[in-house]
Amino acid sequence: MTENRHPLKLKASPAPAPHVKALRRDWRILVVDDDEEIHSATRMILGRMQFKGRSIELLSATSAAEAQAVLEREKDIAVILLDVVMESDDAGLQLVRTIREQLDNQSVRIILRTGQPGQAPEERVIVDYDINDYKAKSELTAQKLFTTVIAALRSYETIVSLDKTRKGLEKILDSTSTLFQVDSIQHFASGVLTQLSAFLDCQPNGVICAQFDHNSPHPGAASCHQMQFLAASGEYGDCIACHTEDECRHHEMMQLIRQSLAEHKNLLTDQYTVLYFETGDALASAALLHGGLGVADESDRKLLEVFTSKISIALANALHYQKMVSAERAATTDFLTGLNNRRQLLRLGIPLVAGAFRAGTPLAVAMLDIDHFKQVNDSMGHDAGDDVLIEVGTLLRERFRTSDVAARFGGEEFCVIAANLTPEAAHALFDSFRRALEEKICEIRGKRVPLTISIGVTTQVVESVDAMISAADALLYRAKQEGRNRVVIG
Ligand code: GH3
Ligand code: MG
Ligand code: MG
Repeated sequence: MTENRHPLKLKASPAPAPHVKALRRDWRILVVDDDEEIHSATRMILGRMQFKGRSIELLSATSAAEAQAVLEREKDIAVILLDVVMESDDAGLQLVRTIREQLDNQSVRIILRTGQPGQAPEERVIVDYDINDYKAKSELTAQKLFTTVIAALRSYETIVSLDKTRKGLEKILDSTSTLFQVDSIQHFASGVLTQLSAFLDCQPNGVICAQFDHNSPHPGAASCHQMQFLAASGEYGDCIACHTEDECRHHEMMQLIRQSLAEHKNLLTDQYTVLYFETGDALASAALLHGGLGVADESDRKLLEVFTSKISIALANALHYQKMVSAERAATTDFLTGLNNRRQLLRLGIPLVAGAFRAGTPLAVAMLDIDHFKQVNDSMGHDAGDDVLIEVGTLLRERFRTSDVAARFGGEEFCVIAANLTPEAAHALFDSFRRALEEKICEIRGKRVPLTISIGVTTQVVESVDAMISAADALLYRAKQEGRNRVVIG
């Protein structure tokens, strides 16, 4: 990952961010011995030691009980130099059990350092107790102690790093499996923010943006309006509804997102973690979290890359699904009223009508046409006319069962197919709809608009839905002829 071109001064690759420095503390070594001289000798030898640029912090305990208390309280102890005979002959050995079993600390490296090898013979102890080294105090010269401790620190570092990787991978598996299950792109995106913040161990402050339009300007120059905010949380929550780029409070962050989109890569700065997701459909999309703690070393970066590649796949999936759903919607739904369109009415109506015909069950097909609708357009404008159509669509949805098929047939004509309705029930149902519309106070653009509707209903079930629609249309024509605002059934 090359970051040196970043205008906001990205940190040089291996140097940790300031907030990460706190994590890069000294190596912590716990000396457990009831002999004060051992403590001061150890301090003399190890006190000024450095390993991988980190110094040593020595903690002391003079009994197994005290050591246990220190271990329960303090984190990140790398090595324990442990005496055997303290408050009891095998106090040290008992402590080993406590550490591994009770405290469940498998990472700390335990070097047993005994003054009486006779009490705890090496062969038995190394087999029976989960220790990592065994030294008689007499053989432990300054040089040997130094070497032993360095070797222990090295293996501690490896264990911690493997453990971190394992936990990171577990989180990736956990989060991506939940992410693959979500149904909308917005749910998905806010799930990603939650999972990312868990992964980075920070607050869920962030946004996810996508750029869908391949013809839009170079992403490095894209304005907020040319990006779609799929999710925004925490202090960025206002981004979703924000339309005022001039007053943007998150300029720095947006600049990073643009850069990530333009350069197709993750960016890690002191304050931001910007991830680039490679997806097929969107030009690109990126997520960002404020103060991504701990994303510092190479293994973190690698994990983050695995994480982003997993999310990219899930995101591409979710985008693809969204596209399919909206294409399906556009093909079956009337854009203005949200009702079925004519094509979908026929698709759903064909089996419904044929089924009723074969089974001999009742079914009604109604054509509905708003009376003098042209006058609304003429006197109030086309937009007001659209609002009237939306109102009628809403009333249709409210008054009919979900098992009925209601559609905008075209213009100001609607059609309803209702199964299992006797002629009497059909008449009552459509007449009550007619009255409901007549009584409804339609406020369109601040004006009250009186609305009535004429309805033709056929209950003569024939095999073809087209034929029933034509019959209903003829009855509708009669309703118009007979004075409008009425139901004619046949
Ligand atoms: P009638 O009582 O005989 O049905 O009279 P009408 O004025 O309702 O019927 P007409 O067929 O003369 O006029 C229908 C009008 O509907 C004409 C057309 O411009 C308008 N229209 C069709 N589709 C839309 C639409 O999507 N939005 C709007 N605002 N008007 C539409
Ligand atoms: Mg009309
Ligand atoms: Mg008409």
